[in-house]
Amino acid sequence: MLPGRGHNGRGVRKGRVSQVLGIRTAWTAVADGEFFCPGCGGDRNYQRLTGRRRLTLVGVPLLARGETGPVVECAACRHHYGTDVLDHPTTTRFSAMLRDAVHTVALAVLAAGGTCSRTSLETAAATVRSAGFDDCTGDGLSALVDALAADTGRVCGEPGGASLAIELHEALDPLAPHLAPTGRESILLQGARIALADGPYTPAERDVLATVGAALTICSDDVTRLLAAARTPS
Ligand SMILES: [Zn+2]
Repeated sequence: MLPGRGHNGRGVRKGRVSQVLGIRTAWTAVADGEFFCPGCGGDRNYQRLTGRRRLTLVGVPLLARGETGPVVECAACRHHYGTDVLDHPTTTRFSAMLRDAVHTVALAVLAAGGTCSRTSLETAAATVRSAGFDDCTGDGLSALVDALAADTGRVCGEPGGASLAIELHEALDPLAPHLAPTGRESILLQGARIALADGPYTPAERDVLATVGAALTICSDDVTRLLAAARTPS
């Protein structure tokens, strides 16, 4: 329980003993935004507050007792939390991260495959659509893969370059700590199925999927196991 008893100092004013002598915390809002409230379990507005504690006599502030906080106050349930609560993404942000992750993995696998077959493109587009990009098409992905190849100056068919690995880490690193193991495996498996759409894994596809696994903090033994499992039709 945090000191200060909430934003309105109710505990200080109503308590019998503390009517004479107490500590009152005056909270000042220093920032606001949206966060995932663990108390009421959803995306809520918050205010980030710093407090100034004062010794009070009969409710009259006397001595400054120093700064307290900062704390995060939920606009809905009014509970106070430590600022580490802001490390957790909102539900909206989390969905967007997940969608971007699948999109990036799909592109990376397609780019590693070189000249993209229609089957690979359609499999990838269906995967990306089910991740939340409703208007993703095979042609759209094909254009993005071409742009990626032109951008990095690589000839289509060469193994994925360092820029792809960076893109994968940017999309997956922030997401991994918030996913359950099955969620992380599911992203890798979706990439594996795109790679398998036009035949067995190529060495470049294996490289990309290994990078995906590493960024998702899946150990290499598990990556090997999952890539083998993806080959077996379920
Ligand atoms: Zn709340």
